Amino acid sequence: MLFADVIGQEGPKRKIRTALAQRAIGHAYLFSGDEGIGKRLMALRFAQALSCETPPSSSQPDSCGQCRACEQIASGTYPDVLRIQPEQEKANPQIKIDQVRAIERHMIYRPLLSDRKICIIDDADHLTTNAANAFLKTLEDPPEHSLFILITSQPLRLLATVRSRCLALRFSPATATQFEGALALKQAMEIADARFLARVCGNRIGVAMRADLAELRRQHEQFFQLWQSDTLGHPTAILQRAEEISKAQPFSDVIDWLSHGLRDLLLIILGAEHDLLLHQSQISTLRRIAKSLTPTDMVDLLDSLQTLEQAPAQNLNLQLCLENFLFRVHHVIHRDAA
Ligand SMILES: [Zn+2]
Repeated sequence: MLFADVIGQEGPKRKIRTALAQRAIGHAYLFSGDEGIGKRLMALRFAQALSCETPPSSSQPDSCGQCRACEQIASGTYPDVLRIQPEQEKANPQIKIDQVRAIERHMIYRPLLSDRKICIIDDADHLTTNAANAFLKTLEDPPEHSLFILITSQPLRLLATVRSRCLALRFSPATATQFEGALALKQAMEIADARFLARVCGNRIGVAMRADLAELRRQHEQFFQLWQSDTLGHPTAILQRAEEISKAQPFSDVIDWLSHGLRDLLLIILGAEHDLLLHQSQISTLRRIAKSLTPTDMVDLLDSLQTLEQAPAQNLNLQLCLENFLFRVHHVIHRDAA
């Protein structure tokens, strides 16, 4: 059934279903946890389970996914559900006092169709101080028929007084097995691809659903291209390659594929299980590269990666840091060739 669409999250799911079954639903919930792990989907499923016109006849509360209420909640047109989010087009997206006034106007009337009048506030930590204080007044004395669901990946940025008025449900990333199974099932994905996405997206299913698998594969290929003897043959080629890489993709992506590649090399050196590797199909190449690395090389490469990771925060020149990294790779290849 529909709660099954939310991968993992057994704890929050159980609490919500128990509340539904016992008709002991609170007035306000706070869903917190990393981006892209199912908080929004759970909020929709919660609203659907409360409003479904033809709920499945099982022992566990759920929704059908097909009735008018379920469809309108999914498409955002159901009259008893209001979804609020920060104004996306702004550089610093905020939820402003005007939006809180709209919430008040929505919540004050009795529900038309559902048992509850529901308000889902996405990225609730983006409430401005004024808006949060105004919202607090509603939370302190909520209309009897109201249900607020606040969603955030940064719960500590919310006013403590707002937090304390909500039932907190903490979401965590799915396990690798749950994640891989879900992708294989939902997107008919090869298990090797599902495993790759699981590692790259840190088991965050929402992130993986939006990810471009082909593009991620192509980016990660770049790590292996670096180790081909002709790529970084001489200093001019190194500078040119650093420039090409920095221009071709966001810097955080570069750090991702570099660190994933280095992690695999470390695993090979440590003699870890084949299963732990991200690039399992490249195992012979990884072994060949690992063989050419001395412990000092590995330390140098990891140091150099660390400098790269810190570069944005320290306002260092990213391309320059990347050049340093590539010079170290060149050093390893060149020494072997000599
Ligand atoms: Zn339904």
